Amino acid sequence: MFPIDKAAGTCCVVDLSALRANLRTVRRLVGPGVEVLAVVKADAYGHGDIETARALCAEGVGRLGVATVAEGARLREAGIDAAILVLGGLYPDDAAALVRYSLDPVVASLGLLRHLDAVGDEHGAEIPCHLKLDTGMGRLGLLPDAVEEWLPELDGLKAVRLQGVMSHFARAEEPESQSCRGQLRAFRRTLKRIRVAGHDVPLVHMANSAAVMGLPEAHFDMVRPGGMLYGIYSHPPLAERVRLAPALTWKTRVLQLKTLPKHSPISYGGTFVTCRESTIATVPVGYADGYKRSLSNKAAVLIRGRRAPVVGRVTMDLTMADVTAIEGVQPGDEVVLLGTQGGETISAEEMAGWADTISYEIVTSIGRGVPRHYT
Ligand SMILES: *Cc1c(COP(=O)(O)O)cnc(C)c1O
Repeated sequence: MFPIDKAAGTCCVVDLSALRANLRTVRRLVGPGVEVLAVVKADAYGHGDIETARALCAEGVGRLGVATVAEGARLREAGIDAAILVLGGLYPDDAAALVRYSLDPVVASLGLLRHLDAVGDEHGAEIPCHLKLDTGMGRLGLLPDAVEEWLPELDGLKAVRLQGVMSHFARAEEPESQSCRGQLRAFRRTLKRIRVAGHDVPLVHMANSAAVMGLPEAHFDMVRPGGMLYGIYSHPPLAERVRLAPALTWKTRVLQLKTLPKHSPISYGGTFVTCRESTIATVPVGYADGYKRSLSNKAAVLIRGRRAPVVGRVTMDLTMADVTAIEGVQPGDEVVLLGTQGGETISAEEMAGWADTISYEIVTSIGRGVPRHYT
């Protein structure tokens, strides 16, 4: 059975057993003493946040990472009671919702620290916070060089309790780089200062997926894999190091088939012209669904276990593939845009190469309107 909503010509199928296998891989790499915080931001990288979070929590994951308070609130409303760390930036006016939904903040500025302490005190709530250090990413975090300035602020907090100290790599894909070495050095040095000042730091964490796979000394007390859990690589050569199971398949069905004579232009602008009599399959997926326009004349799709090249421009809701070389294609045939069909696979990494991006952008771009099914 093709698991597709009646209203939709396209769907994604997420294999939760792949997710579980990838979680086991993470645990094998980090060992038993290291906690795993599963990153489920951006709708679990397009895989569906609630179902993914439920599946991971059922496997004993006790902490989740989201980007925003709204994402955390969604998980709470769905009844998920794991600890939820808000990894992205927070505005002062996020504080009330943070407390209401029992979300744990990443604190990346003194202003936020003071504000959260005041709001927590006012609500009689204890706020377990993770202090973020900017050790070289240039994004969010307190600067190690300004430690004298912010360290005294950790004394005398009323509602905020320091639960973790964290940082984030800019080039985790290159574990031997000066960049990683320098970040680790600055992180360790600053952590020591915090501890010497008398603060207990229960959870030290820095590793994203690439560091889980390639930088064991960055595992500390907890790791924060995202992409790895979904079986995708931010950096394709990492596939040679660690084998992951891709969890997502994106499908559609042939909407219409037509035979066009030689020299027929296809789609807007006529960027593709048939060089022979051709059988063209039209599928109801386009850039509005997240099938990127930059895939025009570059991508392939899978039909009857074979690759069919995408021809002409991807349009908002429709895309064409040349199936001349594939025997017996029928309207209604399953078309795999991303994933495996028969013996052929189109990986998110391959699609990312066609679209000049990374696999993470491919899966997070799949439209929220594309139904997700779970196996
Ligand atoms: C997104 C994110 C992660 C996960 O990164 P992956 O490369 O997907 O493993 C970890 N930490 C922080 C702070 C993040 O924002």
